[in-house]
Amino acid sequence: MPPTTDYYAALGVSSTATADEIKKQYRRLAKKYHPDANANDPKAAERFKEISEAYGVLGDEGKRKQYDDMRKLGAFGFGGGRSAGAATQGDFDFTAAWKAAQARAQAERAARGAGAPGAQGGAPGSGASGGFDFDIGGIGGLGDLFGSVFGARGRPRGPERGADVEMTVEVPFRTAATGGKVPVELDMVEECPTCGGNGAAPGAQIRSCGECNGRGTISFGQGGFAVNRPCPACMGRGTVPSEKCASCDGAGQVRARRRVNITVPSGAESGTRVRLKEQGTRGSNGGPTGDLIITFQVTPDRFYQREGLDLIASVPINIAQATLGSKIQVKTIDGTKVALRIPPGTPSGKRFRVRGQGITKDGRKGDLLVDVQITVPEQLSDEQLRRMRDFAEAAGLKY
Ligand SMILES: [Zn+2]
Ligand SMILES: [Zn+2]
Repeated sequence: MPPTTDYYAALGVSSTATADEIKKQYRRLAKKYHPDANANDPKAAERFKEISEAYGVLGDEGKRKQYDDMRKLGAFGFGGGRSAGAATQGDFDFTAAWKAAQARAQAERAARGAGAPGAQGGAPGSGASGGFDFDIGGIGGLGDLFGSVFGARGRPRGPERGADVEMTVEVPFRTAATGGKVPVELDMVEECPTCGGNGAAPGAQIRSCGECNGRGTISFGQGGFAVNRPCPACMGRGTVPSEKCASCDGAGQVRARRRVNITVPSGAESGTRVRLKEQGTRGSNGGPTGDLIITFQVTPDRFYQREGLDLIASVPINIAQATLGSKIQVKTIDGTKVALRIPPGTPSGKRFRVRGQGITKDGRKGDLLVDVQITVPEQLSDEQLRRMRDFAEAAGLKY
């Protein structure tokens, strides 16, 4: 009987293939099914994920050995079913091995990245991770897979902390400068509060899924080898309720939309991160809520630029103001107007400092720096031009 999760089949290699053969085959398939080469093809994306998961295990000597051991013992989906699977997980602790290997691979990647960029020969546009070192099907993907393989979903779970949610929030320049609030809409998937994630209506009976014999996964042929999928009848749980939960239609998860007003501290910059305690994903089985981690992205302003705590503004003055001197009004960041004296004979680009009208941060105050730009009249009448020539001659200006 074939195992239901066959990484060798997924990669199309024999179980005695050498590490080199596995690597070559993986590269070949990864190139073929890479999302960059198969835009909008969900089948290719699915295949790509499968081969990535398979290589995540078979491409690592330690993980491959554990996998082979489990395979020999028939841990994958037959011979004892769910309870046997759970016991096997205890014996081998595959998840821990996986995480250790993942950390190791990360360290190797980092080391390689420093020394030999592009050594992995990545496909064009495959992103910052570089080459074929994808993180697709990483801890999350494999965890899910093992979850169904070992029936982890069927075991009673203790309280689990909800996931942290990370997001980037655009902040208007002026809000960042003076501090304020930005409304943010959060859209996340959470455990259904009505059924606690098992998809069953309150009081419904729960029985083993007949479609997958309680395994949670089904196996079918695709492209010449067997592929494992979560069972669509029970959504990978291995059990089906006599009546579905009405809140989530049996999915066990609901989309939660929440509006949160994010407080932006005065002087916030692009890249500033804030952690909002317990504003992330709700925990399951009564576990604590995760955090919301916000990274600010400050949008540019038409009028102001920022340099440290100083604000820089460019203000136009006309040639009469520049030549004869003037008193102009300048708007500060909070909208009030301050008077600024322009002395006679001010050149274009001259910078004036308005003290204390910059950004306030941690009790320190920056200044407002006003760069004046002299504007020249473009359309003059014949009379005005004549007078301008008279003036130029009187002042001895060549033109
Ligand atoms: Zn529900
Ligand atoms: Zn099923």
